[in-house]
Amino acid sequence: MGFFSEFAKAARGGEAGDRYLVAGREVTCPHCGGTRFFEGDALLDSRGASFVGLDWASKGAVTLTCCACGHVDWFADGGLVEKA
Ligand SMILES: [Zn+2]
Repeated sequence: MGFFSEFAKAARGGEAGDRYLVAGREVTCPHCGGTRFFEGDALLDSRGASFVGLDWASKGAVTLTCCACGHVDWFADGGLVEKA
C-alpha cells in the first residue's frame, strides 16, 4: 500500500491512515482538523542538514501527512511519534 493509493482511498471517502500521538497529545491537522495521517520518514542527508543547521533532523524526523487535505506535519524527533 503506497502513499498514493492510500491517499486516493482517502479522497474517495474511505477510511485510511491512522491516528497518532506525539508526546502524548493526539495529532490534529492544523489546516482541516483531520485526525488521520500517513506516516513517512524524513531522513535528511546529514551533510546537507549540518549545512543548514538542522543536525537534529538527521537523527530521524517523521512526517505525518493528513489523509483529508494532504497537509504535511514534520516532527523532528521520530521517537515521540506513536500510533494512537
Ligand atoms: Zn488536513
